[in-house]
Amino acid sequence: MKAVVKSRPEPGVEVVDLPVPEVGVGEVLIKVRAAAICGSDLGIYYYTPAYSEMKLPVVMGHEFAGEVAEVGSGVEGFSVGDRVLSESVKACGSCRYCLEGMSNLCEGSTLFGIHADGGFAEYVAVPHELLHRVPEGMSFEEAAVVEPLSNALHFVRDITPVSPGDLAVVHGIGPIGLFSAQLFRLAGARVLLTGIGVDTERFRIAAGLGFEAVNVEEEDLVEKVMDITGGSGADIAFVAVGAASALHQAVQLVRKRGHVTVVGIFPGDVELPMTRIVRREITLAGAYDARPVNFPEAIKLLESGAVNARDIITHRFSLDEAEEAFGVAISKKGGKVLFVNN
Ligand SMILES: [Zn+2]
Ligand SMILES: [Zn+2]
Repeated sequence: MKAVVKSRPEPGVEVVDLPVPEVGVGEVLIKVRAAAICGSDLGIYYYTPAYSEMKLPVVMGHEFAGEVAEVGSGVEGFSVGDRVLSESVKACGSCRYCLEGMSNLCEGSTLFGIHADGGFAEYVAVPHELLHRVPEGMSFEEAAVVEPLSNALHFVRDITPVSPGDLAVVHGIGPIGLFSAQLFRLAGARVLLTGIGVDTERFRIAAGLGFEAVNVEEEDLVEKVMDITGGSGADIAFVAVGAASALHQAVQLVRKRGHVTVVGIFPGDVELPMTRIVRREITLAGAYDARPVNFPEAIKLLESGAVNARDIITHRFSLDEAEEAFGVAISKKGGKVLFVNN
């Protein structure tokens, strides 16, 4: 089978021919129909320090959906042909965090596309516990982005204390920013998205979704937020980019007792104005990955149309076109970039 593989500790990916994975006990073989490139895949592409402990070689991809092609022993409830999508974290199931429903923080987890072979391939083997059914009427493309939407759900609903009427500033206008902005709006918040000059296409998507968005290279974001709020500041800043400048702005523009949620992966340490954070009682919270309970919730939001993924998906490529696909994702000249197999 064809697969997009990270094989060397240097920038780049390769398309290679691999044997179809063997299905272990409790596993299901999925014929992948759609898989999406995540921001973290770009970090892997460049082999940035955050991924220096990954397994090499590995088949990339942790956002994928497809059809059951084979069912391993010990699996009940799934049969060949079922339409499914998978969670991205293979958790230990027995550590304190797993037992509390937070397998995103598992002490012994392996992640598809980083430690275990993932979904940028024709087939992938997945423990059946991680599977969710794709509802009738939902495309494989939408099903492939249930994982990032589940992440956004965790970031917004589990971690960020948002109330109706709040002003939420979302730093970063990529897929996670666009999903999170929709969730803040559903919670009754006024949302201000922010991007930079290269995000032209993403500003177009944001406008199509009805969002107000600021190009921070052209407009003074902090000043704008102060204008809107009569000088008091935003209730929430949500940092969906790994850029120190965005984090600094977030800390400058939230009100006293404001909340800053940080989900971007940063290339290195960031210095922060701690006196400001202390004296204004600002909360700074990290948020990572998704909890299993976020998946069924994300599926419902897409199925009901409460969250729009269709307009965020802008590019589709075959596995053979991995170089072009990553090129588009890296250039930020689109929303979500997918691999599709027919
Ligand atoms: Zn992802
Ligand atoms: Zn665990």
